[in-house]
Amino acid sequence: MAYMALYRAYRPQKFSEVVGQQHIIKTLQNAISLNKVAHAYLFCGPRGTGKTTLAKIMAKALNCENGPTIEPCDECEICKGIQKGTISDVIEIDAASNNGADDIRALRDTVKFMPAVGKYKVYIIDEVHMLSNAAFNALLKTLEEPPKHIVFILATTEPYKLPNTILSRCQRFDFQSISMEDILKRLEIVAKEEHILISSEAMVQIATSAEGGMRDALSLFDQCISYSTHSEITLDDVLAVSGNVSYLKIIELLNSCVKKKDTEAVIFLDKMVKEGKEIPRIMNDLILFLRDMLLYKNQVVLEQKPMFKNQEFIELSTKVSKPLIYQWLDILNDSLNQMRFSTQKRAYAELAILKMSDYELNAQADFSDRIESLEHTIAILNEKIKHTSSIEEKKPYVPPLPTTAEMKQFMKPKEENKQIEIVSSNEITIKDVENVLYHASKEKKEKLNQIWKQISMSDQYSNTFAIQILINGKIVAVSDDAFIVELPDMAFCNRVMQYENYVKIMEIFNEYDLNIKDYICIPTVIWSKILSDYKSKYSKDNPQPKLADIKIGIKRRVIPNEPIKKEDPIITQLKQYFNEEQLKITED
Ligand SMILES: [Zn+2]
Repeated sequence: MAYMALYRAYRPQKFSEVVGQQHIIKTLQNAISLNKVAHAYLFCGPRGTGKTTLAKIMAKALNCENGPTIEPCDECEICKGIQKGTISDVIEIDAASNNGADDIRALRDTVKFMPAVGKYKVYIIDEVHMLSNAAFNALLKTLEEPPKHIVFILATTEPYKLPNTILSRCQRFDFQSISMEDILKRLEIVAKEEHILISSEAMVQIATSAEGGMRDALSLFDQCISYSTHSEITLDDVLAVSGNVSYLKIIELLNSCVKKKDTEAVIFLDKMVKEGKEIPRIMNDLILFLRDMLLYKNQVVLEQKPMFKNQEFIELSTKVSKPLIYQWLDILNDSLNQMRFSTQKRAYAELAILKMSDYELNAQADFSDRIESLEHTIAILNEKIKHTSSIEEKKPYVPPLPTTAEMKQFMKPKEENKQIEIVSSNEITIKDVENVLYHASKEKKEKLNQIWKQISMSDQYSNTFAIQILINGKIVAVSDDAFIVELPDMAFCNRVMQYENYVKIMEIFNEYDLNIKDYICIPTVIWSKILSDYKSKYSKDNPQPKLADIKIGIKRRVIPNEPIKKEDPIITQLKQYFNEEQLKITED
């Protein structure tokens, strides 16, 4: 016999075999026993949660030789026929491939005929949201006046795409993702029946990767069986097949972020990509990992994951505060959203990792954690004071407790930190932009574009992140000694303008004989505003138009620990007469 996929072989044939969705099963069974079967049902929910499986079981329950019954026998000719798809009374349509009005009209023509062998004609329309408008209209006519012997079961993963006229005529059931526990139970049964050895970590990973879909879980299990070359399926096998990232690797990466070692973190990301993991998958795995860590920290652990016993995981979770996790989750979610519309997925992922390593900028988060714990202590103290005073009958003086605002004031970053902020900001203005635009040169731009290409092809800079970002940008204007680059994101610009990166990049450009002394990065949103302003004002008579004072919001950043040295005026004077070699200025 040909090999049958696990998800087919283990597809439930009766209500009692279905995993999860118990509320839906109960309602359907009640409808059958009370003889109140509706004419149209809508089964919505994520893929692999049992919509079409339940639709088929419902068709069996209605048409079984012993039916309508709350549990089909699965042994009579009709039950078996429905199973094999040979009973003409149960019509399955895949709307993804039969989505035209003609298909639905043809269906409508058969509606009027009585069922051939069973008691009901059951139309199961899968992926119903794929129907065309004309097809929906044709379907609607049937739903408006359905003959008594007809039951429609519409299944969809995207119910919001259905017209209201259809939705209002259906009894709707929302299928839930299947719980990790239920998936694990089912996998255990299948492994036992098929005599397959699999480690419990591997099994948990399959259930996690399936994200609540039983069909996905079984398909993945199937693939792992074919993939594994050992006697037992291991966690590594599952990770290799699913493309998921091992949580140990995620821990390594996040540890680097915690230590603010951003380059190290980006290298970890790079390793994962080289191992063949897809960027969105990695981002998603990071999100799931952080969600698990939040659950662990909140002690809302519904499912005991093997990871929770891992020493490195426990250590990491003591180092990462809850507000920081929320902050990271925001960064990752944003980055995933931006990736959807971009071909530069890698750059967005790297940027996200950099942002995650740069969390000091948001010191507020740590403070709110401390405020939370202070508030908690105060509440306990308050309780104690109340308690003692009621016993002693004597009210001691209790100083008023500080308010949250007062505490925030108290916990403000130290003055020195504040100063760093001030020292480091030196915003790029529209004047800087004007300077480049007024002296823009086409020839220089062409030359720079060529150099751009050389740099992007050279392996020498492939590990220098700022340069990678820069050369992914677009040169929009070049003057005698400066250029402007348009980058997709504000954070990209700030990164490339950072002092140490600025120095590195200028060094590179100095190697080429181009006399470049400065550059400016501007985010696309702002650049498009400046450009349209410039274009509207520019003319032959006015080749250097005064531009509107658009706020660019990008800072040139100076290294805080290295304040700009003020030169001794005597040395400055001396320098006019001698060159530096002759002077040999030493630190002391
Ligand atoms: Zn039967």
